[in-house]
Amino acid sequence: MCGIVGYIGKNKAVNILLDGLKKLEYRGYDSAGIALYNDSDQKIIKSVGRIKNLEEKLNLSSLEKYKKGIAHTRWATHGAVTEENAHPHKVGSITLVHNGIIENADILREDLKEKGYQFKSDTDTEVVAALLDFNLEDDFLNTIEKTIKMLKGSYALGIITDQDKDYIYVVKKDSPLVIGINDEEKFFASDITAINTYTNHFIFLDDGEIAKINEKEVKIYQHLIEKNKDINTIDIDLESKNKNGYAHYMLKEINEEPIVLEKTLKPYLENIELLPNISDYSVIHIVACGSAMYAGMVAKYILEEKTNTEVIVDVASEYRYKNINYNRKTLVILISQSGETADTIAAMRFAKLKKQHTLAIVNVKTSTIAREADEVLFIEAGEEIAVATTKAYLLQVALLSLLCLKLAYDKKIITEITPYLNEFKILPKLVKEVIDKDSDYQKIAQEVYQKNNSFFIGRKIDYSYCLEGSLKLKEVSYIHSEAYQAGELKHGTISLIEKDMPVFGIITDHDIYEKTLSNIIEVESRGAKTIIITTDKLKTNRNLEIIVKDVSIYTQGILIVPTLQLISYYVALLRGCDIDKPRNLAKSVTVE
Ligand code: GLU
Repeated sequence: MCGIVGYIGKNKAVNILLDGLKKLEYRGYDSAGIALYNDSDQKIIKSVGRIKNLEEKLNLSSLEKYKKGIAHTRWATHGAVTEENAHPHKVGSITLVHNGIIENADILREDLKEKGYQFKSDTDTEVVAALLDFNLEDDFLNTIEKTIKMLKGSYALGIITDQDKDYIYVVKKDSPLVIGINDEEKFFASDITAINTYTNHFIFLDDGEIAKINEKEVKIYQHLIEKNKDINTIDIDLESKNKNGYAHYMLKEINEEPIVLEKTLKPYLENIELLPNISDYSVIHIVACGSAMYAGMVAKYILEEKTNTEVIVDVASEYRYKNINYNRKTLVILISQSGETADTIAAMRFAKLKKQHTLAIVNVKTSTIAREADEVLFIEAGEEIAVATTKAYLLQVALLSLLCLKLAYDKKIITEITPYLNEFKILPKLVKEVIDKDSDYQKIAQEVYQKNNSFFIGRKIDYSYCLEGSLKLKEVSYIHSEAYQAGELKHGTISLIEKDMPVFGIITDHDIYEKTLSNIIEVESRGAKTIIITTDKLKTNRNLEIIVKDVSIYTQGILIVPTLQLISYYVALLRGCDIDKPRNLAKSVTVE
């Protein structure tokens, strides 16, 4: 969500900062801005909308002299999307960019107003700039230390002070921040993708640490005492930055699913014992946000059905504030693609504080969750650029499903694991076959794209697929959609069914096949246009029907998911939506 980037060195800062902002675009934003400095002069340029709007305002040749700067993509939390509210903000001698939310900004603002400060924006960020200015001391480190003690909330701050122009200062709490290092130049950013074309040496700042950066060195302080930090060398596959001929990253990433599945599962399929034995836990809590939470829902149904395990799935933003009584041995599974989801981080820390074992499923190996969880399993999605997740979600489902299978085996509920492992082994091939049925999804998209409302219905585990299918459709195509347990529809919601309304029915569960089918017939009787997604053993022979191979509950979802993703993609395409960057959305939600 939003991003910051900074540069200090001998090169043209404006080019590096613009490039960094473009790389951060995938995180989602609504406005952008840049502050450039040299010894005698400074410039702040901001604009609402896309980076290209900012670029159009910059007279690049006149800005080449600036060798230092900070830049920002904003995802508004306090104040409308306007140029005044865009960052950087300057108050007195302080210029800064900020990701996050200052929760006590209103109180601080009132206080600062009484002290004579006037505010040009509605943001919480400008309050931080004013507070730093008010707290100014000779040593700017003291100024920052004093100021952050007064802040509540989350922040990654890039700060330049007129008093000490040779340096950039950065500090963070609950928002990611990484520093990049080359001999004669330094960088900082919200994530390494913004700066990894320039360096592969990084320092990850931890909460409460302040970095004082000039072109030659980076000094890190905690409570004003200098400390040593590891420099990590990380090489990132730059291939994933190209669309490789696909019209959108979303389509490219769906097409990568067979490859990344193979990569993620291979080590475990060669040696299943690499997965942890979790049979000791009486109860499992799965905590995540958005699609990751829906991946957890898939696991819940498998765990309950096949492993006799009690499972609670909760959204992280709720879980973190609950009064949870861990009175039985509990495993807390956290799922996050980026590993930086603010609420999931907080939920993890909450569980750790209560001395519960945390197991994370994460894509980004350098992320906060990857570093802090007791145990981590990585999906190997590579970089996912499209804001709406596809391959990462699929891998979360796949890895969780394999973990469920291992648990059934460890609990001796199944005695023979090999046939199931063999099913996992052929998944890349089967997923490829599903993805290749392009024209089927396009045909369905034609039937759906002009509608404004839709439903996804299914029972039990099929309902969990409905949740993700419905979310994907609304995220990328803006068609209003709801997922419903098929049997629950007639307790009120069926009143919304009207002629030609698309209703997606997902049926893979053999035991309740007839029940779901009855619900489908009920909506058809009321005029709905049904689209069935089912298996070759359960097919209903309807006009609009997607059929995948019938496999076990452990792997079935992995064949259903790409169909839902592709339907959403083609619907969004026909509606002319900004598929890779849907409005209002952010890739990794780093604020509460
Ligand atoms: N809370 C700040 C604002 O609304 C920063 C938001 C962001 O992280 O981009 O301006």
